[in-house]
Amino acid sequence: MPRHLLSIADLDRDGIERILARAASFAEASGREIKKLPTLRGRRVLNLFYENSTRTRSSFEIAAKTLSADVTNFAASGSSVEKGESLKDTVQTLSAYDPAAIVIRHPHAGAAAMVARWTPAAVVNAGDGKHEHPTQALLDVYTLTRRLGALDGKRIWIVGDIEHSRVARSDILAFTKMGAHVTVCGPPTLIPRGIEALGCDVRFTLDELREADVVYALRMQRERMRDSYVPSLREYVANYQIDGRRLGPRQVLMHPGPVNRGVELSGDVVDSPQAVITAQVEAGVVVRMAVLYELLAGARANAPEPATPGPVLA
Ligand code: ASP
Repeated sequence: MPRHLLSIADLDRDGIERILARAASFAEASGREIKKLPTLRGRRVLNLFYENSTRTRSSFEIAAKTLSADVTNFAASGSSVEKGESLKDTVQTLSAYDPAAIVIRHPHAGAAAMVARWTPAAVVNAGDGKHEHPTQALLDVYTLTRRLGALDGKRIWIVGDIEHSRVARSDILAFTKMGAHVTVCGPPTLIPRGIEALGCDVRFTLDELREADVVYALRMQRERMRDSYVPSLREYVANYQIDGRRLGPRQVLMHPGPVNRGVELSGDVVDSPQAVITAQVEAGVVVRMAVLYELLAGARANAPEPATPGPVLA
């Protein structure tokens, strides 16, 4: 396990499988009446969120508390960030409280890697702009392997706003490392040029969607759009919405949340038995417990510190 989790590129298939196995063992324990484990007792976890979040922030908090860590939630709004304090000064200030881990979400790509250079804490990227969201990808792989078994040879279509999606980037890397075949699909304006270099195919229509074992729909990231990328939302819905007509009965439906019902997904498919959206949310806790465990209590965390600081794994 690397010292930080900044990108799925930090992990090989063995590393991903190790986290999934650890998450599965935590899932077994979560059925017990007393859910807390003493593993991180006396350690501090700092959640540093510069962007809105429902699932990621709450599940990191629950995960850290279930491992008995002391958790502090820091939201940029209401803090000295609003008085002009920089990210670097904020991180160095908060590092004085000696956190074992900093979980950071930030609107700028690369922010988590910068934080890792400014703090002795282990850093977990909880979403940096449109770059990556590695724990989302890990919980997606966990959810899918529980539903389908090994992902080798499975066909996964990721549909929608690929351009602005950190989930798409992390998922393409994670799914392909696990042996799946990934196709991204959306309007040409929302597919970044050169995305094939990540190991996926590209389609601009849903004509061949029926070949997919898994359909992964994405939200339009309107907060990251400076221009208008589609002629109209109505046209987008007509061409790319996953609805009961387009989704086959054996296809698994995923979405990272928050869903915009009636846009990327019709309401009926959100509530259909093929949707594993709630299972993804549930998996968020055990997978984030596994990540914190591996970073803070796993074999590497017990190894002696090198005399001089090593390179940041990004
Ligand atoms: N929750 C995911 C993210 O933070 C997906 C989304 O916001 O659409 O990237």
